[in-house]
Amino acid sequence: MNYLKTTKDLCCGCMACVQVCPNKCIDALKDENGLLYSKLVRPGNCIDCQMCAHVCPMLKASSGSLKFLRAKNAVSAVNKNVEIVKGSSSGGAFSAIAKAVAKDGECYIFGAAFSDGFNVRHICVDGIEKIGPLMKSKYVQSDTGKSFADVRNFLKEGRRVLFSGTPCQIAALKLFLRRDYDKLLLVDFSCHGVAMPAVFKRYLDEMGKKYGSRVLQYSFREKMRRFFSYSCVSSKFTFENGKTLMIFKDPFFQGFVRAFYKMEACHSCPYARSERVSDITMADFWGIENVNPNQEAGKGVSLILANTDKGREYLKKISADMDLHEYPFECCLAGNGPLNGPLKRDGAKARFFEAARTMTVADAVNSLIKRPHSLKSLVLKIMEYLPMRMRIFAFKVAGKQCR
Ligand SMILES: Cc1cc2nc3c(=O)[nH]c(=O)nc-3n(C[C@H](O)[C@H](O)[C@H](O)COP(=O)(O)OP(=O)(O)OC[C@H]3O[C@@H](n4cnc5c(N)ncnc54)[C@H](O)[C@@H]3O)c2cc1C
Ligand code: SF4
Ligand code: SF4
Ligand code: SF4
Repeated sequence: MNYLKTTKDLCCGCMACVQVCPNKCIDALKDENGLLYSKLVRPGNCIDCQMCAHVCPMLKASSGSLKFLRAKNAVSAVNKNVEIVKGSSSGGAFSAIAKAVAKDGECYIFGAAFSDGFNVRHICVDGIEKIGPLMKSKYVQSDTGKSFADVRNFLKEGRRVLFSGTPCQIAALKLFLRRDYDKLLLVDFSCHGVAMPAVFKRYLDEMGKKYGSRVLQYSFREKMRRFFSYSCVSSKFTFENGKTLMIFKDPFFQGFVRAFYKMEACHSCPYARSERVSDITMADFWGIENVNPNQEAGKGVSLILANTDKGREYLKKISADMDLHEYPFECCLAGNGPLNGPLKRDGAKARFFEAARTMTVADAVNSLIKRPHSLKSLVLKIMEYLPMRMRIFAFKVAGKQCR
C-alpha cells in the first residue's frame, strides 16, 4: 500500500523515506527540472511497516512528532576571522559552530557541497580543517543520499555529529532517528527555498557559451566593495580558460530570490516560521543597519537563533570566535521573510518558463524583472552606491525601512 500521501508537488526530496524503507520499495527519482522526489516503485515488496510515512517531514510537520521552539533573542554574529567571513555567504556562523563542535573532540560534520561538477550533495567530513566544500550557500536542492543512515551509525557508535541542512532535511533526520542524542547538533537556516538544479545547470552552460569557455566554478555569494557600500550578493564565475567574472545581482540569483524556479513544495513549506526544529538556526541578518547602525548586512552579518538549551550552550562556545550582539527576537523578523511564512505562489514561475522557451535563462529573468525607467528606480539605483549611514538617513526621511 502507498502510505506516502505526499504528491510530487508536496515532496521536498529529503530522501528520508527512501533511506528508511526496509525492503527498498521506494526509489529516488528526478523530474524534468532535476528535482529529487520519491516514488513507491515496488509495492509488491511492501510489508506495511509505515516507516516511510513516519519519517516524512511534509506529512508529519503538524502531527506533534516534532517539537518546534522559538529562540529567546535574535543574535547578530560576525566571525572575528576576516578570511572566514570572506569565504562564507553570511557572517561565518557555520564555520564558528563547526569549530566549536570539533573542539569538543572527534566529530563528523555533514553539510552540502558541490560534487561532480555542479551537483549538490550532502557529504561528511571528519575534521574542521576539511569544511571548505561545505562553506557557502548553494541555492539548489541538495541530495542527502544515505547521510541520515550514516548519522545514525556514527551516533550509535557514540561519535559526535554536526548536521547542517534545510529545515525540512533537519526535520526528516529527526524523524528518521526517532530519539534525541546528546552528541548530535542540528543546524538549519532560515530557508527561502531551493532552486531547480536543471535551470541552474542550463544557466551555467549558457554563460560558458556566452563567454567562450566552460564554467568550472561558480560561487553564489562573493563579498565585494561597491564604491561606498558593500555587497554579499555578487556571483563569481571561474572559466576553464582561467578568466574570472564577478556579477553584482547575477540574473540566476535574482530569479532565485523571486522564486522563478523554486521547488513547488517550498511554497507550502511548514518550516517557514519563527519556531524551529533545529538547535541553531543561521540566516543573514538583513536589515541589521536599522537595528544597529554600526553594522552593515552587505559585509556579511549572520543572524543566529539559539532554539534549544544545546543551541544556547554552543552560542556561548562560539563567543570567543564571533562578535555577538543580542536583540529582542522581533528585530530580525522585518528582514527575514522565511521566518514569517512561505513565499506565496504567484504567476511568476509560469511566466519565467514561458519566457525561457525562447530566451536564455539570464534573458528570461531580465525580461521579467526589468523595471520601467522612473524617477523612483533612478533614485534607488543611486542609493545603492551611498555609504550606509547616508542610506539609512535618506530612508528615514522618506519614512521607510532601509534596504
Ligand atoms: C537554499 C538556501 C536558502 C536560503 N534562504 C535564506 C533566506 O531566505 N534568508 C536568509 O537569511 N538566509 C537564507 N539562507 C542561509 C544563508 O544563505 C547562509 O547559508 C547562512 O546564513 C549561513 O551562512 P554562514 O556565513 O554562517 O555560513 P556558510 O559557510 O555560508 O554556510 C553554509 C551552510 O549552508 C549549508 N548549505 C549550503 N547549501 C545548502 C543546500 N543547498 N542545502 C542544504 N544546506 C546547504 C552548508 O551545509 C553549510 O552548513 C539560505 C541558504 C540556502 C542554502
Ligand atoms: S510501508 Fe514500509 S515497506 Fe512499505 S514502502 Fe513504506 S517503508 Fe517500505
Ligand atoms: S520523506 Fe521526503 S522524499 Fe519521501 S515523500 Fe516525504 S518529503 Fe518526499
Ligand atoms: S523552503 Fe521548506 S520545503 Fe523548501 S527547501 Fe526550505 S525547508 Fe525545505
